[in-house]
Amino acid sequence: MTAAPFAPPSPGTETYAVLHRWRTELSLIVRDASGAAVTHLLRDEVMRMETALSRFRPDSELSIVNQQPGRWHTVSWYFVEVLEAAIDAAHSTEGIVDPCLAHLVDAAGYGTWRDAETPPLQPSEKQFTPLSQDSAGSWRDIEIRPAGSHALVRVPPGLALDLGAVAKGWLADRVADRAVAEFRRDAIANMGGDLRVIARDEPWTVTADPEQASSGQAELVLWDGALATSGVGRRAWTTADGDRAHHIIDPRTGRPADTPWWTCSVMASSAAAANAASTAGIVLGAQGPGWLESQGLDGWFVGSGEEQRVGRWPGP
Ligand code: ADP
Ligand code: MG
Repeated sequence: MTAAPFAPPSPGTETYAVLHRWRTELSLIVRDASGAAVTHLLRDEVMRMETALSRFRPDSELSIVNQQPGRWHTVSWYFVEVLEAAIDAAHSTEGIVDPCLAHLVDAAGYGTWRDAETPPLQPSEKQFTPLSQDSAGSWRDIEIRPAGSHALVRVPPGLALDLGAVAKGWLADRVADRAVAEFRRDAIANMGGDLRVIARDEPWTVTADPEQASSGQAELVLWDGALATSGVGRRAWTTADGDRAHHIIDPRTGRPADTPWWTCSVMASSAAAANAASTAGIVLGAQGPGWLESQGLDGWFVGSGEEQRVGRWPGP
């Protein structure tokens, strides 16, 4: 994950709340609001998402659904909202972003990855399993039914959900929307580089920083919009066979994407959409820039010694 820190335009009037969770930094900035209230809002939303979606809590809704795929499970409408955002991402990327890849993400060794200093189990190449012909595209078979105050969800047998490519972006949208509704002030929510901006008084300047010495940074001035960066530089490790592995899977091969890009940053109207597109940009490799352009989105691909800007992404 590449950080996308921000540079607020006028000093002194912003209230920051920061949490360190999910191996990254989550923050909310509101212009002119009480610090305690801003912190409370951020904590409340993060805890709510953890209760629904944590992979590390056996009692989260996600864990319960994943423990018994193929069966109907009662879940909250909150869970359904995130799942629907993930299914939308699969539609808009034609399955390149796929919510059913949890087993492949684990097989790549990401389950035990903690940080760059402590490599994970170093799985052998042999642990990589391409999706069988049967299960490729199985996200289309996820079923959702209303059940009064709750909903029922069924995931195809043999598969497990990983909503990691959409959840942080979705949360950035939700937190920024809620902050503007509650405080009636401009806000930025940054969930580990997936960032949603809402401004009425003056725009925010945000900085995309791919952490590559050669590429520098890009400053974007946003009134209402989102920026997301996906990257393979940080959440990466070496397999037992000496190959580089990372946390973004190509569902067509079942393995960490073979991509020339170190990072892909995308601007879009929502962080959920920006995040889905940035993940797809990494997976699609050389085809990523052309695909992003075909979606009418703006973005920046940075690889070693190579970069490409798409749409209205600002020049060097
Ligand atoms: P970052 O954490 O760098 O922002 P992304 O937003 O691209 O990265 O999300 C990557 C996460 O999504 C992975 O850690 C994994 O949990 C999950 N994932 C990996 N590959 C895919 C994919 N092709 N489709 C959907 N989810 C994926
Ligand atoms: Mg992301």
